[in-house]
Amino acid sequence: SPVFAGKRYAILGLARSGMATLDALHASGAELLAWDNQVHLRNEAEDKADIGDLLEADLSGFDAIIVSPGVPLNNHPISQKAKDSNVPIIGDIELFAQARSTLPPHRVVGITGTNGKSTTTALLHHIFQSTARPSLMGGNIGIPIMAQKPLTAGGVYVLELSSYQIDLTHTLDCDVAILLNITPDHLDRYDSFDAYAASKARLFDMLSPKHTAIISGTDDKCQLIIKYLREENRIGDVVDLSSAEATGQETWPSLQGPHNLQNAIVACSAAHSLGINEQQLRKALASFRGLPHRMERVAEQNGVLFVNDSKATNPASTGPALGAYPKIHWIVGGLPKSEDLDECAEFFGNIVKAYTIGEAGPMFGKLLEPHMPVEPCEMMLTAVQRAAGNAQPGEVVLLSPACASFDQFKDFEARGACFKSAVNSVIEKKQVGT
Ligand code: ADP
Repeated sequence: SPVFAGKRYAILGLARSGMATLDALHASGAELLAWDNQVHLRNEAEDKADIGDLLEADLSGFDAIIVSPGVPLNNHPISQKAKDSNVPIIGDIELFAQARSTLPPHRVVGITGTNGKSTTTALLHHIFQSTARPSLMGGNIGIPIMAQKPLTAGGVYVLELSSYQIDLTHTLDCDVAILLNITPDHLDRYDSFDAYAASKARLFDMLSPKHTAIISGTDDKCQLIIKYLREENRIGDVVDLSSAEATGQETWPSLQGPHNLQNAIVACSAAHSLGINEQQLRKALASFRGLPHRMERVAEQNGVLFVNDSKATNPASTGPALGAYPKIHWIVGGLPKSEDLDECAEFFGNIVKAYTIGEAGPMFGKLLEPHMPVEPCEMMLTAVQRAAGNAQPGEVVLLSPACASFDQFKDFEARGACFKSAVNSVIEKKQVGT
């Protein structure tokens, strides 16, 4: 974009979004200094930027320091360096915000929350696509925003925003800003739960008066933000969807569980405010395919359904998954993020049996035993084999771990893949046997 021509930027972090930013700014005629701890990334960047450690460089006179969302700002010397040099720290979403004035007429929807961001973002993008409205997904999902081609006139930028990305954004005035929920998570990167919540609330501080805020969380933090926005009377429309319930008879195979109905209501409300009608919404919901590792239906055999919800990395995301089916064989555990499962307790009545895995196994076993039968399994394959062996027709084998994956897996995708291959091996055996 022409707004970057002749500007000077220092870039810290050259992985996916950092490298895309570097390419785009270089193509726009900006002057760049870049650094990454990894040599091969520095080498890849050296044709387009000066390479040098930002902490040792003189940064005075730079327009901004562009930092990847993966860099923990609460705990990194670049924060002090930026202060001393009097240069703002920003991210790629802020660059997008600054370039908006040069784009064809468009709308922006920003989506944040502890859980449900990707699902809601993907669904909203799907809704626009299915009505032939130009739309793209960016931010914390898919291709980095700086690597995407701008939309033609009338398009909608649907941006998933993590709190880390919001921390690096200062002028993104969304037409519709969505906050799904705020529950404790990522507390390694914030000084407190309040600080984490405040980070999410900043999305609304950036909105201009005519724009819309949609908030669906029933939690205290979301309710506080709704109250604040209403009192301030600063935003055009504050939509409180925390008590909204889906009505009617329809169910959508890719949107299982009360949390996904909530996500669907939010996405429909946002799409409706941007001109999509009810009939178009119904059609789009019916054709949505869902995302892998989020309540993903993996297989069904002899009336037993196998569901992969590996992305449920905290108790607040597992809770509603347990509300999705009446008879569940629940595979749970991994690297724990909390010492209780309070947010899951409401649906313990739906559990036939729990199968614990990973580091959290023994601790969860103790927590759950008063409420349900528990089988300690340690490994995914063992858990899937035992659950599949016990499940009766009409019951569901659900992986919804309520934990991070890093004790046994590279990431939640690898954990989900392991569950799927275990399911396939169990199913194949049964087929051979019959
Ligand atoms: P995010 O991008 O915010 O991590 P995802 O859409 O990837 O969210 O979903 C993460 C996990 O949280 C999944 O296991 C999903 O089933 C669950 N989840 C989705 N929406 C919600 C919601 N509104 N409230 C609680 N949990 C949710």
